[in-house]
Amino acid sequence: MFKKILIANRGEIACRVAATARRMGIKTVAVYSEADAGSKHVAVCDEAVLIGPAPAKESYLCGERIIAVALATGAQAIHPGYGFLSENADFADACEQAGLVFIGPPASSMRAMGSKSAAKSLMESADVPLVPGYHGDNQDPDFLQQQGDRIGYPVLLKASAGGGGKGMRVIEKSEDFKAALESCKREAISSFGDDKVLAEKYLQRPRHIEIQVFADTHGNCVYLHERDCSVQRRHQKVLEEAPAPGMPPERRAAMGTAAVNAAKAVGYVGAGTVEFIANQDGSFYFMEMNTRLQVEHPVTEMITGTDLVEWQLRVAFGEPLPKKQEELAIHGHSIEARIYAENPEKGFLPSIGTLRHMDTPGAVSFELGAGSNGDPAPVRIDSGVREGDAISPFYDPMIAKLIVWGADRTQALARMSQALAEFRIVGLATNIAFLKRLVEGGAFSQADLDTGLIERNSDTLFPAPRAVPAGALAFAVVALIEAEKDASAAVSKNSADPFGNALGWRLNGAYKRQFSFADDYSAGTDTKAYQVGVTYHPHGWELDFGGMEAEASLLKRDGAELSINLGATSMHGAVRRDGDNFHVFTGGRHFVLAYNDPMAHAGEAEAAGGRLTAPMPGKVVAVLASKGQQVKKGDALVIMEAMKMEHTIAAPSDGLVEEILYQVGDQVTDGAPLLAFAAA
Ligand code: ADP
Ligand code: ADP
Ligand code: MG
Repeated sequence: MFKKILIANRGEIACRVAATARRMGIKTVAVYSEADAGSKHVAVCDEAVLIGPAPAKESYLCGERIIAVALATGAQAIHPGYGFLSENADFADACEQAGLVFIGPPASSMRAMGSKSAAKSLMESADVPLVPGYHGDNQDPDFLQQQGDRIGYPVLLKASAGGGGKGMRVIEKSEDFKAALESCKREAISSFGDDKVLAEKYLQRPRHIEIQVFADTHGNCVYLHERDCSVQRRHQKVLEEAPAPGMPPERRAAMGTAAVNAAKAVGYVGAGTVEFIANQDGSFYFMEMNTRLQVEHPVTEMITGTDLVEWQLRVAFGEPLPKKQEELAIHGHSIEARIYAENPEKGFLPSIGTLRHMDTPGAVSFELGAGSNGDPAPVRIDSGVREGDAISPFYDPMIAKLIVWGADRTQALARMSQALAEFRIVGLATNIAFLKRLVEGGAFSQADLDTGLIERNSDTLFPAPRAVPAGALAFAVVALIEAEKDASAAVSKNSADPFGNALGWRLNGAYKRQFSFADDYSAGTDTKAYQVGVTYHPHGWELDFGGMEAEASLLKRDGAELSINLGATSMHGAVRRDGDNFHVFTGGRHFVLAYNDPMAHAGEAEAAGGRLTAPMPGKVVAVLASKGQQVKKGDALVIMEAMKMEHTIAAPSDGLVEEILYQVGDQVTDGAPLLAFAAA
């Protein structure tokens, strides 16, 4: 087996490959960009080499530089992961010329499948069923329009070189054809450098069903069954599962055989995925082949009990496939959810920032292997980030993949729902709440699947913002009061002194306060203010939610986890504070309450002791202070440039600069500590 491999990727896939390599006793070399110096994939590999600045074009897409690193570090092979160089045939050739093994298919297979049009022609001759359409060379607009008319509307135009859901246009009627063709070609040339298009019948309510195939250099080729990836937004996968609900064994075998034929037609070796588009009646057509490991490969691993990265390594080393077709049975059901730093309410716009807190469900990480009784782990998380890491604007905003396994789909669904409720992220917007509504919604839970599921169910998937319930406010209030207690205990140490603590103890009568919060969550829609009156009692508080009153008391507290009684109900939740925002997680929901702290401005100097942070993502353009320097309140310490403006970070009080954490030219993320500062 290989002794050492280089992983030409980042994030979760780099960590995923490293985990298998470690288990197999193979050393790993990570490559990283300047934006990733402190990232998880660098930490989990045995060696790491900086290959360039943050933009992928100057780092992760620099094949030559990566090959030079492989040679210099003595790696024998390169694993490209997905994205980046994984489907780049020239890179595969260059590896071979340098005497390195490219862990993927032969360059010739990649070239054959690289153009959707050429791939369709090939599949036609291999008797793989195709969507009715035109995929020839004639790109004359009048001719293409005639083809559209012949196919019958709606028609889908696709960039031949396309990928990632880009370069596609649905055309409803002949009159719209020319305009759509022009805009499709424009996007194709700018995204893929090639404006060739193909036209297809646009299927109604189709499902995306794909087959995992694997071939070795000894002439063996098997299929590891199907994945259903119908739940998509903008033609990109959101939820994936295996097996596909409702798949009869005969159709599975027919699709598997078609996929194996497709792979054999291009002399395929290694892991590949043949994507089909299927009608509700089960008829299916070849769409494209992805000549790499797929993002959603874990669901296949879960139901077949295989490690597909291990298979890739063995095949690349020249070993035969570890299993034969008849040894590949399906056991149970698996679902994957892609957890993204994005804002579903704002058109799934990516969100960048720092993962200030990340609580993950009790998962067995990939490194730790299987669950009990020989079953796969009930919950697996493949992630490339840790608490404190940043999601930068340079790369894909995926935070993690949450994968569950169940004996059947019902159990898998329940586990997914539970795991999503336990996945808590503070610091940036995520799609977790959206995923939870999606998984629990009628359409997905009843397996009423097609690629339009999200759009069709937008009413329930994007509910109107509701008022923050009293329970969530109660958690924020209790967390605040408890934090005050901690702070005063730390100050006075002498808890026998009734004047030195903040327990609400007063000589004359009950102590009353008013807390004010703003609901900061519902994605930029108008914020709503909430007042909570608090009257201290010896064993708790009387809370007044503006008309509605209830007794509250703390039952248990364990870090951020709180159990409280509110009226006759006992509730469990967690509260994380991020600046003035209280993140309340309860009942599987996440509320963000901005606390309007009357003392905040009075105490600013003290609060600013410790670290000074970047107000937004940007670049450091000047560092005016140095380590060990005494500064006066208001002195400029660091200047950042962001959104074409300069921002001066000034000393909040007199004090000492203990450490400067960035240099001129460094990119910093929102909230990143810029320097360590001790107030005098
Ligand atoms: P799949 O079919 O496996 O779901 P996609 O076509 O969505 O794959 O792309 C695979 C992954 O690779 C995605 O996460 C995508 O964002 C990432 N990716 C694709 N191209 C690039 C690239 N040039 N640079 C970085 N990441 C990329
Ligand atoms: P990409 O390379 O971007 O992955 P694909 O050809 O795989 O492009 O198509 C992506 C998605 O677009 C599919 O998963 C499906 O949702 C939709 N799609 C593709 N072809 C058709 C079609 N003929 N009819 C309906 N939907 C389609
Ligand atoms: Mg595709």
